[in-house]
Amino acid sequence: MPALDIRSLTLASVLAAMVLAAVLAFMRHYYPRHVRGIGHWAAAALLWCLAAALYSSARLTHPVISSTIASTFLLAGFGVYYTGCRRFSGRPARWRATAAATALAIATIAWFTHVQPSWPAQLRSMIGSVAGAELAILVFLQRHGRHSLPTRMIQGACAGQMLVIAYRLWTTFDGRAGLDLMDKTFEETIMVASFAPTLTLMCFGALLMATDQVVEELQHQITHDPLTGTLNRRALMQRCANELKRCERAGEDLSLLMVDLDHFKRINDRHGHQHGDAVLVHFAQRVRELLRGSDLLGRYGGEEFMVALPAAGAAQGHAAAQRIHQALARGHALDCPCSIGLATWDGPGDTLQALIQRADQALYCAKSRGRNQTCAH
Ligand code: GH3
Ligand code: MG
Ligand code: MG
Repeated sequence: MPALDIRSLTLASVLAAMVLAAVLAFMRHYYPRHVRGIGHWAAAALLWCLAAALYSSARLTHPVISSTIASTFLLAGFGVYYTGCRRFSGRPARWRATAAATALAIATIAWFTHVQPSWPAQLRSMIGSVAGAELAILVFLQRHGRHSLPTRMIQGACAGQMLVIAYRLWTTFDGRAGLDLMDKTFEETIMVASFAPTLTLMCFGALLMATDQVVEELQHQITHDPLTGTLNRRALMQRCANELKRCERAGEDLSLLMVDLDHFKRINDRHGHQHGDAVLVHFAQRVRELLRGSDLLGRYGGEEFMVALPAAGAAQGHAAAQRIHQALARGHALDCPCSIGLATWDGPGDTLQALIQRADQALYCAKSRGRNQTCAH
């Protein structure tokens, strides 16, 4: 390990950060504008690239360049990355506090570089500031990030490097601080070598977090009705089929409600389609409020909705239908009565198509009996 050249290791970080900055910049261009933070992460990678380039010039250029300005880029990169995480999570940037913390860290490093030169103190303030920034990122993601694999990837990278920093700090108090950044000691090699994988994982984690969000949004768009936010017909059929299989395995009941708003065309004709849309949204909200988390609500088509009630027999299905009638008769301006057809799964051998057909027949029965009521098949 001591044979590894520190300058080469630093240059490896330059290359890694350069590629990541380019990838993140492309992503910012191609991903939807509302996914925030990608530009910040790209800028952070660019700052890290510049920092590594300047650090690699140690012993060849003035310490103002290879230490103070390099550290400024490095820490500014962490500040901008942290801000990217905040913006991605929909939180305000907190530029002032981030800039103040970064400026304080840079001033301390500059002090121990130029005013009271001491490599151990300079090293401690440099890596201590990095650890502080990584801790801020780790804690922020823990509190406000999604607890997903990409988040864990960033947190793991930060935690891993904080361990390396803790070890390196310990060695500075143990007489193993070395002479400067380019001193080819085992401790310094480990420290410098940790940057390329850490920054790479942080950037890839950020990239995956943004990708996850876009995929999730697309997934939602292809499975949900844009107007009412309920499941669309395709997703509804798929989820009902899965639920039926699950009930079959667990030996549970399943009830299906086919719900159709009564004389809905008249609402459109009298008050316009926008008002009709608002009635549909209101209906979906009301019904969703009274369903259990495991129940499924979807738009079957037009002003027809389907409700699947897993682990509910005919009596519970009837009770749920009555709750729907009551919820739409509270005197709200957007309330619209509905007719409901109820069918209950007959057990193994009964299919989803047959169940839907029975619920549909029951719905026509409710319509023919005068509407605003439930019929069971
Ligand atoms: P019935 O009680 O027999 O069900 O009568 P109805 O008027 O509710 O049924 P009909 O099938 O005659 O009319 C349904 C209307 O729903 C016609 C269609 O324009 C309207 N509709 C379907 N989808 C939408 C939508 O997304 N928004 C609005 N505003 N209207 C819709
Ligand atoms: Mg109708
Ligand atoms: Mg209809």
